[in-house]
Amino acid sequence: MKAWVLKAVGQPEYIEVPAPELRPGQVLLSVGAAGICGSDIPRIFETGTYHFPTIPGHEFAGTVVDAYSREDRRWIGKRAGVFPLIPCGECFACRERHYEMCQSYDYLGSRSDGGFAEFVAVPSWNLIELPDAVSMEEAAMAEPAAVALHAVRRLAVQAGDTVALYGLGTIGILITQWLRICGVGHVFAVGHNLGHGELMRRTSLEAYEYRNAAGMEDACDTVAWILASTGGRGADIAIDCAGTPETLTDCINCVRAGGQVLAVGNPKGEMRLEQAVYWKLLRRQIRLTGTWNSTFDHTPEDDWHRVMTEIESGELKPAELITHRLPPGELLRGLLIARGREEYHNKIMLIHPDSCYVPDNERMGTGL
Ligand SMILES: [Zn+2]
Ligand SMILES: [Zn+2]
Repeated sequence: MKAWVLKAVGQPEYIEVPAPELRPGQVLLSVGAAGICGSDIPRIFETGTYHFPTIPGHEFAGTVVDAYSREDRRWIGKRAGVFPLIPCGECFACRERHYEMCQSYDYLGSRSDGGFAEFVAVPSWNLIELPDAVSMEEAAMAEPAAVALHAVRRLAVQAGDTVALYGLGTIGILITQWLRICGVGHVFAVGHNLGHGELMRRTSLEAYEYRNAAGMEDACDTVAWILASTGGRGADIAIDCAGTPETLTDCINCVRAGGQVLAVGNPKGEMRLEQAVYWKLLRRQIRLTGTWNSTFDHTPEDDWHRVMTEIESGELKPAELITHRLPPGELLRGLLIARGREEYHNKIMLIHPDSCYVPDNERMGTGL
């Protein structure tokens, strides 16, 4: 099969490799769509995967074409999404079915081979069957959509709440879609790219306002803007999807007394807070919460099943974030677009033309 093999830091190569051999519990998935995640950029160009060679890619979906064991043969021919985390099943978190906090997990696309290939060996435990109305590219967006839902579920959100959101990457915009589903009244969005602001307005909320982040042209004092817009009270909730000390500080400064701050974005470096900001956290009794990954425990209420339900009903529209659809051989071009600021992009997706992929518009036409 053809696959993108990361041989060393900065060296992804599109080469012919043997298709994976199945082990007990695994099925063979023919990849239909695979998204580039923001975390793939440092993984491929700076830090590397846990060992080399590895096939990266953890946001993917496809069709099951083979299975190791007899009981898994029922999956053959089915379209499936993939929870990329393989839990140990034994640690404290796993025993409580909080697999997202597993202490010694395996991961498709960083510790084990992932989705930037024609085929992937996936434990059948990690599969979620796709409803007919969910396309391959939507299913490949299920991972970030589940991460965004998991983040929103850390919060006590009430209808009509005002939310400040710093950082409008894929997760940030997907969070706004979930906030809309929760009935949030108004979002004050801060980002680096007016295009993301437009995308957010189109896909998420009418009741949103956008400002450029510090350091950008037309940037304003976003904390003063949010305070002035809420009669001096502050937003009910502030969400940091950027992971910098500045944005976390802004979140604490713009949230109301007794409000909630959610830390979502992966930190880019040390996360120091000034003493005055820390005092605010105490005196204003702000609830600061972290979030990580998503829940997947085969119940209808886990994050992944909820994602599929909301895509199926049309409430969640993750495919609207896809700005680039590339053939599998063009991963490197996609990575370079994702790394740069020259070309507008949000989600960049590899589409396998000869898999069972049906584009959205055709799917509508055929009544599927
Ligand atoms: Zn990711
Ligand atoms: Zn575990």
